[in-house]
Amino acid sequence: MGWTYDPTNIFARILRGEIPNKTVMETPHTLVFHDIRPQAPVHVLVIPKGAYVSLDHFSAEASEAEIADFHRTVAKTCAILGLTGEGFRAIANTGENGHQEVPHYHLHILGGRAMGRMVDPG
Ligand code: 5GP
Repeated sequence: MGWTYDPTNIFARILRGEIPNKTVMETPHTLVFHDIRPQAPVHVLVIPKGAYVSLDHFSAEASEAEIADFHRTVAKTCAILGLTGEGFRAIANTGENGHQEVPHYHLHILGGRAMGRMVDPG
């Protein structure tokens, strides 16, 4: 489908250990760490360790094991951070219209306060 992965992106550098991160949890396929500019009391990023640009790239080409591990890790992260009962928002900004800044798939998990309505009316 034509996704091109840029291995110099900042999350690739985090995965290679070139840049430090505040890790919440890690599995063979997935890493969770705190966002450097949190926009809520809880703001973490769940990323696959594989070289996937975006949610649609990951969903199309990742293995069943990677996809299962990613989503099990989301659940564990929500439990670890105490979000399971009170709720949270998950965001996957994608591409230009989605205002994605880092071209390595990441799911934002935001919580610890009411997150407001879903989309900026623009
Ligand atoms: P995007 O706009 O691509 O969905 O979100 C990228 C996110 O990555 C932003 O929320 C930004 O604060 C976060 N970010 C960018 N660089 C770093 C970094 O070096 N470390 C961490 N932990 N987060 C980063």
